[in-house]
Amino acid sequence: MLKPYVVDGGDMEEGACLVFAHNVQEARKVAWKEVSWIEEAAGGEWIYVRAKLLPREEWDYWFTIADQEKLKKEVPHAIEDPPACKKCGYWTVLNENGVCKYCQTGGEEL
Ligand SMILES: [Zn+2]
Repeated sequence: MLKPYVVDGGDMEEGACLVFAHNVQEARKVAWKEVSWIEEAAGGEWIYVRAKLLPREEWDYWFTIADQEKLKKEVPHAIEDPPACKKCGYWTVLNENGVCKYCQTGGEEL
């Protein structure tokens, strides 16, 4: 089964992408191969590419963003530009209005 990973080039500030893969190594490889900016973000160094498994309780949400065809066939793939919160611009779990938990509560709790 594919699992959702967040992958960046060693510094999340420079961007991150969503990757569906079977394991961390595969997630890193898929991002390196498919995501145009990752090589530059990692300073051209594959070793700086990091992948982190997203929290289990969020998986159902991330699966809705996956390429459904590829998900079904278990083809690892990257989503370079996942939907971001309309208010803060971060990509995270969003509600039906396209807003994250943090912005939804007026920024009072994270
Ligand atoms: Zn937000």
